[in-house]
Amino acid sequence: MGLYSLYNNATDSCRLEWSIQSALTHFLAENFDSIQANSTKTLKNNQFNDSCNTFRNKLTYIDPIKFPRFGTCLVAIDEIISVLCNDNIIGRQMKCLSCEKNVSNLFQKSLNPHLWTKHAEDTGYLPSLDITTIQEWSFVSLTACKTTIHPSDHQIVFCQVPCWLWFEVWPQVKPKTLPSISLDLPSSNGYFQYELNTIIYHGMNHFTCSFIDDNKHLWFHDRQQNQGNPIFLNKIDQIQFSDLIEFEGQFANIYIYQRL
Ligand SMILES: [Zn+2]
Repeated sequence: MGLYSLYNNATDSCRLEWSIQSALTHFLAENFDSIQANSTKTLKNNQFNDSCNTFRNKLTYIDPIKFPRFGTCLVAIDEIISVLCNDNIIGRQMKCLSCEKNVSNLFQKSLNPHLWTKHAEDTGYLPSLDITTIQEWSFVSLTACKTTIHPSDHQIVFCQVPCWLWFEVWPQVKPKTLPSISLDLPSSNGYFQYELNTIIYHGMNHFTCSFIDDNKHLWFHDRQQNQGNPIFLNKIDQIQFSDLIEFEGQFANIYIYQRL
């Protein structure tokens, strides 16, 4: 459901870029388009559930160990997103505009406490902070991408600006990570803005998600509640910020951002 919402909120060019990345993204893009074309909500829901099952079968067929058909697995969610977004390597590659070299370090996907301790001060933050935002983590990651061969005034940017970016957060990582509603990240064409779109929560061996639709409304989705229909939570400017971190006893584990 989170992916469906991401796709629906994407621009036409972003949808196209995504749909030609792999056979799976092509399959999903076709299904999402055809779900949208249904006239009634019931037809949409039925087709959505059929598509989910077919998609899970496809994943299991590709790799039964990474994508077990039954049971839950945290790795699987991350792997699915990684397969689908396909930006884990290419999309996160950074380069230095000043010396025209690719930077070997990739933009960090997981937030790593050592990274923060080592580079926060150079970025202008306190290494001892207890709480930071994903935007601050991103700037620290960018600083970390500079190696000793790049002087500090060199400009490190994304080679390609991916449609979607996702960040895993872990409760044990210090400083504790709060989501930013929007993110600014550098590319060779200036700063690109990203907006928070989907949150995946995990807890008690169960995954749920919330997502923001194109009317800036936050919805919650749990396949085991409300017959699998999303539940309206609030307008994004009136939400409880804490709902973005913990919802119904489950903790946010992945934040997905969409390029504007
Ligand atoms: Zn350089």
